[in-house]
Amino acid sequence: MNTMQSALFYGARDLRLESVRVPVAGPGEVVVKIVKALTCATDLKTYIRGSHKMIPSLPSPFGHEFCGTIAEIGEGVQGLEIDMLVVVANSAPCNECYFCRLDKHNLCDNLQFLNGAYSEYICVPQSIVKQNLYRIPGDVPPERMALLEPLACVVHGVERTGIEMDNRVAVIGAGPIGLMFTRLIKLTGAEVIVLGRSPWKLEAATQLGADHVLNVDEEDPEQAVRDLSDGRGVDVVIEAVGLPEIWERAVNITRRGGVINLFGGCEKGTEVRIDTHKLHYEEKRIMSVFHHTPRYVAMAYDLLLRGELDEKILITDRLPLDRLADAFEKMEKRQALKICITP
Ligand SMILES: [Zn+2]
Ligand SMILES: [Zn+2]
Repeated sequence: MNTMQSALFYGARDLRLESVRVPVAGPGEVVVKIVKALTCATDLKTYIRGSHKMIPSLPSPFGHEFCGTIAEIGEGVQGLEIDMLVVVANSAPCNECYFCRLDKHNLCDNLQFLNGAYSEYICVPQSIVKQNLYRIPGDVPPERMALLEPLACVVHGVERTGIEMDNRVAVIGAGPIGLMFTRLIKLTGAEVIVLGRSPWKLEAATQLGADHVLNVDEEDPEQAVRDLSDGRGVDVVIEAVGLPEIWERAVNITRRGGVINLFGGCEKGTEVRIDTHKLHYEEKRIMSVFHHTPRYVAMAYDLLLRGELDEKILITDRLPLDRLADAFEKMEKRQALKICITP
């Protein structure tokens, strides 16, 4: 029996590297030998909170951003070859349920999630092979392409928010997601103000094109945003932190009639309080965008191929799989953005 090392998630702060059976590709599936995996703030949240929508049961394989080479091809799979370098998004919709027919594939009743990037091998299910698996050309750094999934979420977020070229946008949070928003919003032509806490992350925001950065530990963010927006507040706010108190703050820094995209997911069971006058008499619009769809994955793939996102700014560290726990510790201490994990 062939075995491999795989990180299994048992619950809050309980991640164990175990020896498990190498998966075998069934009909329509492929097994990918992982070359690079990337840590994700969602993984960190899951690690701390102990649960997440993307992890249906415990213990669970863990990690969902990766690229690798094809090690085994299941019966009936067309167009792929052994050793081909590929990148895979972490879910696929069924295309048959009520929500898929509404073109809301991210809300699919049967959304199939894939976890297990922190392993030597992973078996990619048929629906993902068919819809969300892409070849990586030889001249593109594989770890850049491993940004496919989070970037697809951000492309989805930018498009659904409807940002206009003349908008002034505040991005709250200078983690990988906030930084990817910064870059993509700059591509639309809008002005971007980034709010964060770590000076070095705010420096990364500047490198990615932010017009202004605000350190919320040093100045009153609500006043500082008003000062930068003619006293009105910004046209659009993207909340990329995922804390209820920041969701509440996001509403306060938006102008009348502005849009608030609550992008960062909060812990299950948490609640927010919002002034009803701000919603009604000030016509502030609150929205959320969750996850991605095959269409946004395709768009993210093109953006990455064209080199529109500098992966060297986002991937700050590298560690082997057996030091995964150190990677989470580093992220928790805000000493890293994304960490590239090599099995
Ligand atoms: Zn992710
Ligand atoms: Zn569906």
